[in-house]
Amino acid sequence: MRTRFAPSPTGPLHLGHAYSALLAFDHARKHSGEFLLRMEDIDQSRARPHWEAQIYDDLQWLGISWVTPVMRQSDHLPRYQDAIRKLHKLGLVYPCSCNRRDIEAALCAPQEGVNRFGPDGLIYPGTCKSFHTPMPDKAVLRLNLAAAFDHLANDLTFQEFGTDMDTQPQHINVSRELIETAGDIIISRKDMGTSYHLSVVLDDALQGITDVTRGEDLLEATALHVVLQNLLGLPRPRYHHHRLIRDEDGKRLAKRDDARAISQYRDAGATAADIRKMVGL
Ligand code: GLU
Repeated sequence: MRTRFAPSPTGPLHLGHAYSALLAFDHARKHSGEFLLRMEDIDQSRARPHWEAQIYDDLQWLGISWVTPVMRQSDHLPRYQDAIRKLHKLGLVYPCSCNRRDIEAALCAPQEGVNRFGPDGLIYPGTCKSFHTPMPDKAVLRLNLAAAFDHLANDLTFQEFGTDMDTQPQHINVSRELIETAGDIIISRKDMGTSYHLSVVLDDALQGITDVTRGEDLLEATALHVVLQNLLGLPRPRYHHHRLIRDEDGKRLAKRDDARAISQYRDAGATAADIRKMVGL
């Protein structure tokens, strides 16, 4: 068994991150597996060395140890480009020149009851969807999800274990409904040459991750990842989606909510055991 925690060094670790990391670490320890860390720093406009250093420090303080060296996504851009070329050769990606305002305008008369938001925000209405064009150098590229489904092998089921590894998994099937609920997601950003979705599936495969632990807000992203794994011939890990840690008002803890940062609790004299208690472990 090999689990991982994959933070983006764009802000402090908060209680929700600590919960994810502790769950993945505990799973690995319980099953004599390995726990890996990966810095998801493809957004170089927001990633900062001091956040990375703080993440290491907080994790260590929580009693978490990991296999070294730590993989950094920014060292792997050519691999992501190879995968994009592969998807492009299959005719599954297209360049998109829409900005947010274009997308909002195209969605201006939404039908009542229709959800306009997918895992990455506004569901793209497909304005730029086109026939196969040569792969442009620097452009936003989207995945043609309908074409992807036509291309896919049949088995799109993944195993969901929740946070308890010892129960029977739920088998969740990814259906074509995703075409409507997620839309043609961005697979490569202009400034990054990749995206979270693409990099995460490639890296979980490269690092031989058998078990992915993440918040339940990423359930739909996981469905997209299963599609990408299938298209790219990658193994499918087991998934463990956990509840989100919320504040007293039931609001999800955002990264910018510094009051919940682990460092703040540390400064106030909390112990690692206190943090475990706070997140219910
Ligand atoms: N970098 C992502 C995050 O911090 C990782 C989530 C995941 O794929 O598990 O939310």
